[in-house]
Amino acid sequence: MDEDRLRQWIARHRRIFALTGAGCSTASGIPDYRDENGEWKRRPPVMIQAFRSDPAVYRRYWARAYAGWPRFSSVAPSAAHLAFAAWESVGTLHQLVTQNVDRLHQRAGSRAVIDLHGRLDLVICLACGARLERTAVQASMADENPGWLAEAVSAPDGDADIADAAIESFTAPGCTVCGGQLKPDVVFFGENVPVPRYQQARDAFADADALLVAGSSLMVYSGFRFVRLAHEAGLPIAIVNRGLTRGDDLAELKISQDVGSALAAALAP
Ligand SMILES: [Zn+2]
Repeated sequence: MDEDRLRQWIARHRRIFALTGAGCSTASGIPDYRDENGEWKRRPPVMIQAFRSDPAVYRRYWARAYAGWPRFSSVAPSAAHLAFAAWESVGTLHQLVTQNVDRLHQRAGSRAVIDLHGRLDLVICLACGARLERTAVQASMADENPGWLAEAVSAPDGDADIADAAIESFTAPGCTVCGGQLKPDVVFFGENVPVPRYQQARDAFADADALLVAGSSLMVYSGFRFVRLAHEAGLPIAIVNRGLTRGDDLAELKISQDVGSALAAALAP
């Protein structure tokens, strides 16, 4: 049984560094960007350079984000999030690092989480550095776009599919302090993880005795590099992910199963 193998693997280690990805949140209703072969399922996410330099890209991003937020922000933690929260309070979980920006680990009760790619519920001004609550930015977008309606289809990262004509009529938000461009406090494609945050994860990793990857295809290098580091340091690696990952060849245990059910079974008392 895979659950038994995972349970035994976890029991063999005392300080497990866990890296989680989109596969933990799909059961909550947040779709994944990639299919089981690690390929894009849909249009790839926006690049930071285009976001900053092209007003049409900026407006499209915020129109889709505005429409997708109510649903994105209202989903509940999944079995995977709950399993990690329970593990933190009683077990051998040394550090939880997530690539997800949905804060569902925290909402499930996990306390010491490193949000490697940031969080979607905060917004920063690219001009003056002001930090705003996403709910406040949502409210100001509603004020600026009275009657703006779009048939939104749920998409990754709180994004939503909207007709081009609707996007053209959307008024994009600006900083309430200086009028500058706003960006959710997440690492966009084309950006690096902020150095202090990466260093915090590296410091925790230095004290770990094993690496568990849960629900990530590891296609993004910021996650994959922990697998490389573990491999170079001779740390055992286990991967739980439905579908292929970039780290499969380096893992001593690979479980191709839903993260929530696999972890819940492996961590059950
Ligand atoms: Zn500003």
